[in-house]
Amino acid sequence: MEEKQEKALAMWPAIVKAKCPKCRIGDIYTSPLYSLSGQKMHINCPHCGMTYEREPGYFYGAMYVSYAFIVAELVALAIGTSIITGSDNPWLYIIVLLGVVGLLAPFNMRYSRVILLHWLTPGLHYHPDLSAGH
Ligand SMILES: [Zn+2]
Repeated sequence: MEEKQEKALAMWPAIVKAKCPKCRIGDIYTSPLYSLSGQKMHINCPHCGMTYEREPGYFYGAMYVSYAFIVAELVALAIGTSIITGSDNPWLYIIVLLGVVGLLAPFNMRYSRVILLHWLTPGLHYHPDLSAGH
């Protein structure tokens, strides 16, 4: 059992690199985070063949995750802007917040689905046997 855990791939790198939640080897997305072709997903995991969209409308759930991301980013940005600039000009905040959240949109889009797949889907777990030998 212990030997098996040593061979298992770690969760965090799999999440950061947007890997399949089941085998942690196959890519979820077809292209890098900031690519011009946008956030296109593989339909099935290239390694283990898992279907990423588990049911029609499955990825609507990712909207709640990205909403939580955006709220956390806005709060952090507002506090950071206040600490760094000490300004109380509302336009400064609006420009910084909208600008940065706009830049982070591809990140939010991508990682909301990764988090949904890895953490928020009952019955979907990592299968270390699928990554054996990697
Ligand atoms: Zn897989």
